[in-house]
Amino acid sequence: MGLRTGCVSAQEPTAPGGTLARVSNLEPDPQESLCGGTTDVAAAPVAELLYGRDVVLGGTRGIPVVRTLPNKNRRMVGAWCFVDHYEANSSMRVPPHPHTALQTVTWLVDGEVRHRDSLGSDQLIRPGQLNLMTAGQGISHAEDSTEAPGTTMPLHGVQLWVALPQSAADVAPAFAHHADLPSLVDGPASTRLLVGQIDGERSPAHAYTPLVGAEVSFAAEGRVQLPLEPDFEHAVLCLTRDDAGSVTVDGQPLPYGPLLYIGTGRRALDLGGTAGARALLIGGEPFAEQMIMWWNFIGRSHEEIVAAREDWMARRRFGTVADDRPPLPAPEMPITQLVPKGRTR
Ligand code: MN
Repeated sequence: MGLRTGCVSAQEPTAPGGTLARVSNLEPDPQESLCGGTTDVAAAPVAELLYGRDVVLGGTRGIPVVRTLPNKNRRMVGAWCFVDHYEANSSMRVPPHPHTALQTVTWLVDGEVRHRDSLGSDQLIRPGQLNLMTAGQGISHAEDSTEAPGTTMPLHGVQLWVALPQSAADVAPAFAHHADLPSLVDGPASTRLLVGQIDGERSPAHAYTPLVGAEVSFAAEGRVQLPLEPDFEHAVLCLTRDDAGSVTVDGQPLPYGPLLYIGTGRRALDLGGTAGARALLIGGEPFAEQMIMWWNFIGRSHEEIVAAREDWMARRRFGTVADDRPPLPAPEMPITQLVPKGRTR
């Protein structure tokens, strides 16, 4: 099966770069994201390259990360609803900001980031470790790279969001750091499980919908068949630039930059890599609910989003982060009513 570009955004293909990485939604005028998607779940294996967009945020010092979800053409992969990929010699400065009804998944390939939140968590994260923050009814956090003042550090990672189902949207906020994740070794390929299970190995990270997330790294050139849950839809992101290692899916080169959506109905992922190559696999049961994603909030109605925004601006509900910087103000609500959208199976 050759890769086709069935879901390409209007923008030029893009790959991560720049000098200032950021992982929160700092957009001054965020557009409503219609989660659940306008595109039906692919009922069979496909290969769609979803090109991301450079999101330039944080003013003049802000440099893009590449955001492949939500995509113009496909909003979610399982409950995964947000994928930011950044790779730069840079610094990360993300002041306190809120979230609702989602989990944030932080995964680094290079660098070190300090996480602080309104539960009192203060946690360094390094490559190979997982930070999983459950916003539920409301949490706030700040994230900063740990380079010495006035310097930068190589920062490479992904910031992912997982939508909570309505049944768990209001759970109490929580934070977990997982430094010892299970891995599967198959010849040259080592698969670290961030979320969910593969081939009998299970991540300790708690998810609220059937979900999988894994990083596959190649110590030497090779090709493996990674077992998949056929009822899930899946997508693959190449994490390494060509000079650091290249990746194939079904024997076809997977370029650095876009997210490759591979649909449902697969019992295995045919993944190849050269020495040093890394790929991220995300997948899950197709998310059937309707919801709204606006700024850093997920909600089920316009009124829920308005209430979350008002609570944040009034410094209610979201606690405080031990941080001297002023919290990020929320953007103005759009004039139009936010409408929940869904994907039907
Ligand atoms: Mn955040």
